[in-house]
Amino acid sequence: MKKWFAVIGNPISHSLSPNMHETWLKQLSIEASYIPIQVEQDHLEQAVKSLKLLGCSGWNVTVPFKEEIIPFLDEVDDSAKGIGAVNTVVKTLENKYIGYNTDGLGFIESLGSIKSDHNILMIGAGGAARGIAHAFKSLGFTQLTIANRTLEKAKVLGDELKIGQAVTLEEAENTLNKFDIVVQTTPLGMKNNDASLPIKLNLLKGNAIVADIVYNPLVTPFLEEAKKYNVQTINGLGMLVHQGALAFSYWNGVKPDTNGMIQQLIEQIGGNYVNR
Ligand code: NAP
Repeated sequence: MKKWFAVIGNPISHSLSPNMHETWLKQLSIEASYIPIQVEQDHLEQAVKSLKLLGCSGWNVTVPFKEEIIPFLDEVDDSAKGIGAVNTVVKTLENKYIGYNTDGLGFIESLGSIKSDHNILMIGAGGAARGIAHAFKSLGFTQLTIANRTLEKAKVLGDELKIGQAVTLEEAENTLNKFDIVVQTTPLGMKNNDASLPIKLNLLKGNAIVADIVYNPLVTPFLEEAKKYNVQTINGLGMLVHQGALAFSYWNGVKPDTNGMIQQLIEQIGGNYVNR
């Protein structure tokens, strides 16, 4: 049977994943397809049963089902268990469906070459931040500071990881010159959202790397501000493409072209994606 993959979520029509995976499948001459499936809120269990029955070769999971899907899978990989969320499901040769999380590792791959002794500041302590923090830990990073509007949530994540220290947004702002990498993970700056900055950047280190995981717009107000200090900036498209590439390699045993895909998506969605 021809292999087929899917992405499930709600809403799903905006997802860039079908286009990305279809392109990679074609580039690598893999006979398979990848389809978006919108699942209604109360129908997740039935949807997972159907995907299994229909022999889906693997699927991505997006908002709002990343946590909720865990009990319906046959197994969950340790890292996804730690994060408490799954974004990729892989079918094994024994027809078991195993959950993984490639979001955090995908984000770190998008940073290019960084060193495990780099001092990292992460702004935000939500779902995406949790995946990224766990991935930093799994790769041996030991200096991670989590700044969040709700300090308690940053403390919970920091305590859980044992490598993370929690601070307020104000403390992060006042000690910014300590950090080599600054990662913005809140939805601030996303289209149709509040465009204010979570922290001021005037104390940014000269050679810092500043990343924002929001990719619509491609250059967020946070990255626009960082560019004024002539530091390296990284937008959220790299995370999207690299998490997809990892999922693709779990399913097909081969790593697709990530740089070409980032260029293709930039051309496809336009320099700034959606103007606010
Ligand atoms: P989430 O679980 O809802 O977490 C949101 C985080 O942002 C929380 O820490 C929250 O702080 C903080 N926050 C929200 N509004 C804020 C404000 N006005 N001021 C300061 N902090 C604020 O969301 P998520 O799933 O982590 O997603 C976050 C963003 O990442 C979204 O924009 C999403 O599109 C993007 N994302 C991108 C990718 C990618 O592939 N590039 C992947 C996943 C997510 P509190 O704890 O105080 O509420």
